[in-house]
Amino acid sequence: MLLQDVSEGPISLRVRWAIPPSGRPVEDVWVRLADERLVEVAPFSGQPIDRELPDSVLVPAAANAHVHLELSSSDSLRPTQPVRFSQWLDQMIAHRRNERSGDQDTMLRQRWQAVGEGIERCRKAGVTWVADIVSSSSDMEQREGAPVSGIGFVECIGLVESRIAEAERMLQWLPHSKMPTTVAGSCVGWSIGLSPHAPYSVHPRLFETVILVARRHGLPVAMHLAESEEEMRLLRDGAGPLVDVLRKYDAWQPGVLPFPVDYAEYINALSRARRSLLIHGNYLEPPHWDLLAVRRDRMAVVYCPRTHASFTHRPYPLTQMLAAGVRVLLGTDSLATNPDLNVWREVAFCHRHYPEIAPARLLAMVTSDVWQWRGVTRLRKLDSLGPNELAVFPLSDASDPWSFLELW
Ligand SMILES: [Zn+2]
Repeated sequence: MLLQDVSEGPISLRVRWAIPPSGRPVEDVWVRLADERLVEVAPFSGQPIDRELPDSVLVPAAANAHVHLELSSSDSLRPTQPVRFSQWLDQMIAHRRNERSGDQDTMLRQRWQAVGEGIERCRKAGVTWVADIVSSSSDMEQREGAPVSGIGFVECIGLVESRIAEAERMLQWLPHSKMPTTVAGSCVGWSIGLSPHAPYSVHPRLFETVILVARRHGLPVAMHLAESEEEMRLLRDGAGPLVDVLRKYDAWQPGVLPFPVDYAEYINALSRARRSLLIHGNYLEPPHWDLLAVRRDRMAVVYCPRTHASFTHRPYPLTQMLAAGVRVLLGTDSLATNPDLNVWREVAFCHRHYPEIAPARLLAMVTSDVWQWRGVTRLRKLDSLGPNELAVFPLSDASDPWSFLELW
């Protein structure tokens, strides 16, 4: 939970462990919440305390680098056992088309309700920043004043002409629209980005326009890339089960993509944006990792561990990607593929499945690596964070500061 939920008002706490952004745990720490925004952290040396947390650890609140908050009521789509990506996408498109065919006001109300629920889930989990995919730019207004901040990447989809025209109209208008820039209780707030959805759903012309608009206005870009074997097959020869699904919904346009398409071309194009997130990257290969490693200051891959486990994908080469120098962040994706939006559980998942990776490295993937990708180069200390930017978790073993990861 967030430190601000432990107690309201001025309070002094003694906590067994604190883990600063450097990842080096400090034992027996005194924390003073001086007001709603200021926190002092020091070694405990007999200072007066209001409350003691002897079996707990204090850590920076986490950032979730990939989520679709608006799908927070779509948990019925979540696979109960690993499925092929095309099989899931078929159900997802049917679900969204069904939603859109109904009353627009009802659809909007349900979407906003789902976003509100998603934000609350994040906050309760100790997650205060998200890279969110937003299907309509008008939904950004709803995020003003939310207790979680982030980037709303407005989704651009269009392989067929009618959808391309719709997306291009939105892109013309978007950079000039009024967007929320501040959020109460946070020094970060919400900002806007662009998300060309995926190689199989975005016409090369639309993709080029997205990159141009992003460059012109300094906007970050997020794209689902190299997610499934079916996507690779589609990009290799324009065939396979993913093409069959897109054709079923009139969302496939033959002769548009120049087969074969190499992911290196997408990486190079995305690197022209000020910052970019490559979502999933499940099937990127070492030559792609090298391209990303040299641009790690502004390009990152987002691994969504439990979403990955919902599909019949190959094992994720996390250790190898980190060794190659790729900046890898962690995300949950949506409730349509993940049991919750708690990115701490993704850290715990990696801790269990990649024991060779130091827990401090995993913590960085939801904290300091995200700040650096965002251009916050100064590594902040715990006492520069407010109570809404710090989380407190119980420990399964009070002598081990990392044992909070074993409770999930
Ligand atoms: Zn996604």
